[in-house]
Amino acid sequence: MLFADIIVDISHENLDKTYQYAVPEQCREEARIGALAEIPFGKGNNKRKGYIVGLSTEPNFPVERIKPIYGIVKGSLVIESQLIALAYWIKDNYGATMNDALRTVIPIKKSVKVKEKRYIHLVLEKEQAKEKLEECLRKHYTARARLLAELMDHTTMDYEDAINVLKVSRQVITDLTKQGIITVSSEVRYRNPVKNLKQEEYQIPLNEQQAEIADTIKGEFGMGIRDTYLIHGITGSGKTEVYMDIIAEVTKQKKQVIMLIPEIALTYQTVMRFYKRFGERVSILNSRMSHGERFDQYTRAKNGEIDIMIGPRSALFTPFDQLGMIIIDEEHEGSYKSEMPPKYHAREVAIERARLAGATVVLGSATPSVEAYKKAMDGEYRLFELNQRAGQGTLPKVYIADLREELKARNKSIFSRKLKALMQDRLEKHEQIMLFINRRGYAGFVSCRACGHVMNCPHCDISLTSHNNGKLVCHYCGFETYKPKQCPSCGSPYIAAFGTGTQKVEEYVHKEFPNARVLRMDTDTTSGKDGHEKILAAFAAHQADILVGTQMIVKGHDFKNVTLVGVIAADLSLYASDYRASERTFELLAQASGRAGRGEKPGEVVIQTYNPDHYSVVAAAKNDYKEFYNQEIAYRRMVKYPPCSNIVAVLLTSKREQEVVRGANLLAAAAKKQFEQVNQEEEILRVIGPTKANLSKVNDVYRYVIHIKCDDYALLKAVKNYMEGFVKYSEYFKYCNVSYDFNPMNGY
Ligand code: ADP
Ligand code: ZN
Ligand code: ZN
Repeated sequence: MLFADIIVDISHENLDKTYQYAVPEQCREEARIGALAEIPFGKGNNKRKGYIVGLSTEPNFPVERIKPIYGIVKGSLVIESQLIALAYWIKDNYGATMNDALRTVIPIKKSVKVKEKRYIHLVLEKEQAKEKLEECLRKHYTARARLLAELMDHTTMDYEDAINVLKVSRQVITDLTKQGIITVSSEVRYRNPVKNLKQEEYQIPLNEQQAEIADTIKGEFGMGIRDTYLIHGITGSGKTEVYMDIIAEVTKQKKQVIMLIPEIALTYQTVMRFYKRFGERVSILNSRMSHGERFDQYTRAKNGEIDIMIGPRSALFTPFDQLGMIIIDEEHEGSYKSEMPPKYHAREVAIERARLAGATVVLGSATPSVEAYKKAMDGEYRLFELNQRAGQGTLPKVYIADLREELKARNKSIFSRKLKALMQDRLEKHEQIMLFINRRGYAGFVSCRACGHVMNCPHCDISLTSHNNGKLVCHYCGFETYKPKQCPSCGSPYIAAFGTGTQKVEEYVHKEFPNARVLRMDTDTTSGKDGHEKILAAFAAHQADILVGTQMIVKGHDFKNVTLVGVIAADLSLYASDYRASERTFELLAQASGRAGRGEKPGEVVIQTYNPDHYSVVAAAKNDYKEFYNQEIAYRRMVKYPPCSNIVAVLLTSKREQEVVRGANLLAAAAKKQFEQVNQEEEILRVIGPTKANLSKVNDVYRYVIHIKCDDYALLKAVKNYMEGFVKYSEYFKYCNVSYDFNPMNGY
């Protein structure tokens, strides 16, 4: 007997409510997850329709009380069916309840208040407005200046856009209204965030390299070929122009496009480039929008009012029923992986969605993920390259400063002699400087200040993490040792947990360059609603000479006057305790270098490091992705880390430490026993742990982790499914939450 769990109304509130029906013999073939079934419903057995969200051979009630479905609705597959099938794929591949998977995939429907929509209009004439703008710039009223500049272009703009995208405060709008510079009008229920923007003729002719890529992808799309393409293009090589050229073709063929951009790169400038080219047919999603606003945009997509959706990870689930293409810019970005169950990766889900919808996938990055590049090397993705900057600017000259030499030369400053000299030079020339500090791995790897020796796990070639109890622990195998008093390599007593904060860097700048104007950007200074854009805008307006920041400042920003980038300590990410440490280091160094020399003046970069010979540093300095990749993939192959093998991290959390320890031990033992036979000849499946997680306690919740390694993803999935069942039917997990993370982006 086969039974189907059916949701009658796929609106959000009812997702929990599934009803079980029997599937008669003649419907078995068509009864797939996502299929629309006709069922007898309620006391009167009224005919209703519902989606199948689960299938099993186990009845939840006595069989005689379970009604059979009437049949499966035939005909075209509706978009809901496709998304439900995708939800099932996500649940199956990443581990989660079907309910969580559906919540991820199906747009949220909540009662939305009819909202009054407001617009801002410019009252002043062009000339007056220009004077006012100049005055604002003189007085450093940057928010006012942004608003005025925008209104001079378009005269009318959406009130919410001014607040959310332009980052202008309500107070500023009120003030300008009082001064008679602008007026605010309102209209009830208006949902299109771009309606009042004039579409401009905006098109830059592609250069030869760009055109070749765009023409190939467009040509194949036109012929009905659906494939996955990876565009490896250095920063500023014109990838976005290529995307836009392809999008124009896809929409011309009456197909729809989803374009994923990491939230941090979804700046006003980026969004405007798309608005200007595609006008009203574009919409955006972002995390600042309310549920209602987001649902509005999904509804517009479903109604065919738009063709292009731009947004972060969640935009992937836009209910387009004529989806032709999914583009993922900055494909390597960590934010494409969900940190909440289901812990899915947008790249993989995009490829599955594209398969279900008959769409093409285009990935782009200046520093592709090792996963994606390997797939390209294996011929699974098609690789294209852009290796010149398209607009202004040339690649900067990069110097590596060996910090061990600085210590020998008795330079106690955090700035190497080279960096200090170049900073002096730029300050004199009134050019700008970005100082970048890597906060990752702050978590406490221990290294020697004299020789750079790092305390590694003898079994794993991964740095040990310093714990408060004075022990050093490996988070992959559980190895523990005491923190040494002397460096085991050179005997120096200067061995300590490494870490320099942005604040420290700022202090040093003040000390060594008392006249320099410094801005700092990190989670402390950007906690306000628009702190982030405010700081960037101020730096762009040359209100500071030096911008000090964490990885936030290396992403995508284009400052023409920046001619020097200093990476204070490149090593900090190198020893983060997970296998992606080198990849992340290369990526951050390459992206940071990409910030220098974007304008007419050439740029220089100083990378300070204790590991001048490490391949991720050497390759980044040469901007040579392939050199990095070749070394990295050899390493991953040797130690069997993804993408050359697969890992699942099983995270157990509980407020009760004893429960979580017992649960973790039980679960690991059960899995080992269940899959014992697999390992009879050789160790195909390795169960490692349980160990305390890297972050072993958060908000009084204890965290333990089991790592399972296996080349075969399907086998790993089987272990996950077994564990899910074990947890569900065992009484020991009442106070313990279990989640799964396949090929995690961050160490546990
Ligand atoms: P990426 O997305 O690869 O970082 P962009 O598409 O943002 O690159 O382009 C970087 C800069 O080069 C932008 O200012 C863009 O306007 C300019 N640009 C791109 N393509 C061309 C081209 N074919 N001719 C002139 N300028 C271009
Ligand atoms: Zn280890
Ligand atoms: Zn040493």
